Amino acid sequence: MVGKYATETLLADKGGIDRAAAILRDGGLVAVPTETVYGLAARADDDRAVARIYEAKGRPSFNPLIVHVRDMKQARRLAQLTPEAEALAAAHWPGSLTLVVPRKADSGLADAVTAGLPTVALRMPDHPLMRALLAEVDFPVAAPSANRSGFISPTSANHVLASLGGRIDAVLDGGECRSGVESTIVAVREFGQLEILRPGPVTIATGQAPVPGDGIEAPGQLASHYAPGKPVRLNAAEVAPDDFTIGFGAMPGDCTLSASGDLEEAAARLYACLHLGAASEKPRIAVAPIPEEGIGVAINDRLRRAATPPD
Ligand code: AMP
Ligand code: MG
Repeated sequence: MVGKYATETLLADKGGIDRAAAILRDGGLVAVPTETVYGLAARADDDRAVARIYEAKGRPSFNPLIVHVRDMKQARRLAQLTPEAEALAAAHWPGSLTLVVPRKADSGLADAVTAGLPTVALRMPDHPLMRALLAEVDFPVAAPSANRSGFISPTSANHVLASLGGRIDAVLDGGECRSGVESTIVAVREFGQLEILRPGPVTIATGQAPVPGDGIEAPGQLASHYAPGKPVRLNAAEVAPDDFTIGFGAMPGDCTLSASGDLEEAAARLYACLHLGAASEKPRIAVAPIPEEGIGVAINDRLRRAATPPD
């Protein structure tokens, strides 16, 4: 890959974690596996380090980043956690749930992390490598998905290198991500109301139908995202020979999300199949119907955005 940086591949051992921590301390960028997708990590308390994330991804500056914390003490230093936020954290952290909560004035977070919003998105991830890294540094870590902005999220170190090789300092290779779709994002509003900003692996009852917020609060809300660079057809009942087919259950494909119809397995394989479809010589991608239940809601959400052409 041509680029400004010789991107190192770090092994998933003590040496790799130490090196990743050293790069972060120096304000560098390391792609790190989480249980959802690979994140592009930088120290969240340093404006220049955070600016490098936006630059490497080509991410619009209005699109805020998720801040990853190691424990509740760190979370409470950064944000105001209402009883509702505390309860959600107790139930789902470490795990694939991001909470949007009021940022504390003295949080010490770089302003670019929250794109000027009075709120911050916090998550305590559940992946041994990311947790080991968070334990080794004394600052919170900003980490959006480790891909060029708008394109398919990475679920392996190779996906990261194909997209950001030469643009970042290192990738910590932890194999394939277990869950495969990005975290559920929930905003905890005044008076404890909850609003789902992005569906994901954690399903939460809010007591109300999901209502889209005003304006773009989560880029997962952008109509076009996760783009494979060619037309995508959803709920395909029939396929043509020059379709790259993504199958599910009884419908086989060039890549199959889950032959047994298991939605968790399908989520874990979603981006790998989209990457294969993007790289294929076939000019179009056709995707089997996916049931709109459980994590299937998040899979269909990502597929709809992959199928929406960029402006
Ligand atoms: P990514 O890590 O690339 O999947 O993107 C992070 C997601 O978190 C995006 O959808 C952001 O818009 C969302 N996000 C981060 N901070 C906030 C915030 N303060 N309020 C609402 N959404 C946020
Ligand atoms: Mg992303």
